[in-house]
Amino acid sequence: MRAAVFYGPGCIVNKENYLTRINNKDGIALKLKACAVCGYDVRVFRNGHLKVTPPIILGHEICGEITRDVNSILNGKEILIKAGTRVTVSPIVPCMKCRYCNKNEYNLCLHLREIGSSINGGFAEYINIPTQLVKIGGLVPVPDNINDDEAALLEPLACCLNSQINLGSGLGREGTMAIIGDGPIGLLHLLLSKSIGTRTIMIGKIPGRLAKATSLGADLSLLFNRNDMDDSRYDEDTLSRVLSYTEGYGADSIIVATSSPAAFEFALKIAAKNSKINIFAGILGRCSVPLDLNWLHYNQATVTGSFSSTPNMLKKSADLVSTGQIKLSEIISHHYSLVDIKNALLATENYLGLRVIIDKF
Ligand SMILES: [Zn+2]
Ligand SMILES: [Zn+2]
Repeated sequence: MRAAVFYGPGCIVNKENYLTRINNKDGIALKLKACAVCGYDVRVFRNGHLKVTPPIILGHEICGEITRDVNSILNGKEILIKAGTRVTVSPIVPCMKCRYCNKNEYNLCLHLREIGSSINGGFAEYINIPTQLVKIGGLVPVPDNINDDEAALLEPLACCLNSQINLGSGLGREGTMAIIGDGPIGLLHLLLSKSIGTRTIMIGKIPGRLAKATSLGADLSLLFNRNDMDDSRYDEDTLSRVLSYTEGYGADSIIVATSSPAAFEFALKIAAKNSKINIFAGILGRCSVPLDLNWLHYNQATVTGSFSSTPNMLKKSADLVSTGQIKLSEIISHHYSLVDIKNALLATENYLGLRVIIDKF
């Protein structure tokens, strides 16, 4: 099959006849329809990653077609997914033995394997889905009114859902949410928060993306005046505008949707008392930041993390999109063929648009 194989930092090679185990006893093959390029894919392509041992096929935001009938589960009920059905994939393959797996918290599994990280992913003509993943409902059928490209974005939407559940869903009109990071993920968070009517401030560094945020319903879109969020100095103007917008209180929930530690430091500055800060993104480079424990104590603040999602969240994401509450097409800007994978990664790395989709294999 055709595949884009990652061999190490900066090296991804298109192969015409890449051998892989597909459609064997230990899984089911999907024929790829679309695979989105995640910021994670770019970080791995550029720097490698502890979780990734090359050679491997990256790509975990997947829409594919089932190549044979398969028994699976959906919302706790057994279902038959017919050959030819389009599905999206929960990329976490759990061990089914640890405490977290017993509670269906597969994203927290002690021994998890991940599609597109430690198992071959979706930048290929076919992908092999392990039986273990099928058994836990990791294949979610895609409703007819969601196209292939949008279906590939159900996985990142499910991750955002996990994060916002973590922050306490139903924040509603009472509080203010701030999202730091104006990339596709920040915008997905915005779509989610606006779908339940939360007042939302978007903070980012690219004017075009902030204009997009405003058009998607952000109540306030703020530019960091400096070019580089990794600068550890804070943008005083942005800070004072958040505070004046929230009558001096600050934001009640804050999502750090960028891999910059400076974004977390800024989150601390704009956090209201009793607020929650969620670290959504993996951090690149410097991962430790000073945290004033007395600030945490006296402000009764909470810092949380969230990672990936579960099949139930993926199903919920499909429902949100299918019922028109979330419009994923807003987040898609570029389409590439698999042979053009490097350009697709570069477009993502250079912030040329929003989500980039590989949809020709
Ligand atoms: Zn992703
Ligand atoms: Zn486990």
